[in-house]
Amino acid sequence: MTVLPDPERLTGETVELLQALIRNACVNEGTVDSGQEIRNARTIADYLDGVGLDIEIVEPQPGRASLVTRVPGRVPGAPSLGLVGHTDVVPVEPDGWTRDPFGGELVDGWVWGRGAIDMLGLTAAYAVVTRAVAAAGVPLSGDLLLAAVADEEHGSVWGVDWLTTHRWDLVRADHVLTESGGVPVGTHRTLAVGEKGGAGRRLRVVGTPGHGSGPYGSRNAIVLAAEAVRRIAALRGPVVVGDLWRRYVDALDLPADVREAALDPDRLDDVLPLLGALAPVAHATTHTTVAPTVLHAGSKPNVIPGLAEVVLDIRVLPGARPADVDGLLAEAIGDLGPFVHVEGDRWGEPSLSPTDTELYRVIEKAVGDRTGGAAVLPTLGTGGTDGRFYRRRGTPAYGFGLLSPDWDPGTWRGLFHGNDERVDVASLRLTATALHDVVTTFLR
Ligand SMILES: [Zn+2]
Repeated sequence: MTVLPDPERLTGETVELLQALIRNACVNEGTVDSGQEIRNARTIADYLDGVGLDIEIVEPQPGRASLVTRVPGRVPGAPSLGLVGHTDVVPVEPDGWTRDPFGGELVDGWVWGRGAIDMLGLTAAYAVVTRAVAAAGVPLSGDLLLAAVADEEHGSVWGVDWLTTHRWDLVRADHVLTESGGVPVGTHRTLAVGEKGGAGRRLRVVGTPGHGSGPYGSRNAIVLAAEAVRRIAALRGPVVVGDLWRRYVDALDLPADVREAALDPDRLDDVLPLLGALAPVAHATTHTTVAPTVLHAGSKPNVIPGLAEVVLDIRVLPGARPADVDGLLAEAIGDLGPFVHVEGDRWGEPSLSPTDTELYRVIEKAVGDRTGGAAVLPTLGTGGTDGRFYRRRGTPAYGFGLLSPDWDPGTWRGLFHGNDERVDVASLRLTATALHDVVTTFLR
């Protein structure tokens, strides 16, 4: 029998730990010495102190530390469950914030600060549930792993990528929960069961340098790059209506004609404007997306540049191949081909976990119990999470969480990496209690 901890206590400890994690400001700028997640690792280690856990802090680069601990199960060979939460956050633009982004203030039932949603609130709940399970002193069947990890916001190089490559003994698990899920869609709550892959490509644009005073007839690399970018932005590409998108549309309360068009590859693009805040999700879930994100060109006001470079953020759907991406870019670039060269071959495979697992059924029950009957909606993550490193090793990974009913996908997405990031205590309470249900039921 598992002793159920007081929900007030689970909630209170999650709020306090979240505030402390926000205040540590482990901002990952994408440089090797930023982040310094050792501070959040130590904060969590202090919090976990006193319940008999063996804690290891792994630091593959100075300051880039992850905390790993395990509540050992009582049954040898029983399936284990990992809770994998990142402890780094992305930078802020302070002028856009109403409150101190690193103040961790609790105001009218909301915790404010960078990471409240992505994903320090979840990481805090993971640690709180792990401590509660260890403190209860009743061994569960399989191991419960807690990994509070660095560097998720820059490809997990010093976090889960490194840990699963070099310390699989330490972080292995048969099933994993990580970000992100629990967002209300109609009467459903999302659970990310997979994510798109990524292709690393950049455009090298070659013009002819010359004097800035004579632009007529010149081959200006900036002008050529601008035209290439315009064509890429106008690209529509093939529409893929997969099973997960079908289920998403079914969960939405759409007028019949819009619903029909949203499931028709030939008409989906036409109804995107009718989907409001959901349009970016709808588009990204059904297309390979290409976003120009970095542009380098020019050096001096009076020199027409002969070179420009454009970096593209490309996200691919399950089933896509590198040749599909290169074909799409070649089609967009068209007759600019002699001047615009596509470089780079980095490829991150899309990943999907099965939904016919015991863990999935346990999550369905916990979500239903804690929400008065909401069903789980399996979704495709359109960004990247640490889940992909586990899926690659055959471990099913789901993006878990549980938000209160007044949230919607548009608001939630807007706060991800956005201004005034914050989370309500009611959602932290739902997440911590439902997570405790999942852990103690799955490992019963
Ligand atoms: Zn995240």
